[in-house]
Amino acid sequence: MDLLRRLFGGRGPGGPPDNALHLYVRCGRCGAPVHVRIHLLNDLTVEYDDNEQVSGYRLRKEIMDARCFRLIYAELTFDAHRREVSRSIEGGEFISQEDYARLSAPSTGAS
Ligand SMILES: [Zn+2]
Repeated sequence: MDLLRRLFGGRGPGGPPDNALHLYVRCGRCGAPVHVRIHLLNDLTVEYDDNEQVSGYRLRKEIMDARCFRLIYAELTFDAHRREVSRSIEGGEFISQEDYARLSAPSTGAS
């Protein structure tokens, strides 16, 4: 754990304070919103360059919504400082936290 502490000891502003990344996705089939919490220390896969230096991190995440239970596959890449570089998704779409809150609010009827 000392290594991790050192890695994160001097991080600048803008990083997630709790080392967590929150993903909000929407199922491409039934439209159900899903919130996934990614732990930046535990959930990322390290990638190395030719010099065996850490070149970045990768995350592959299988997400299942609670309505139709179809899997959604999200893939994110990060730089060596665990800052997000890119993201892609299959079977759904990324939505904002606001969209998630709106979609997961109790429905008032028509849909
Ligand atoms: Zn679904």
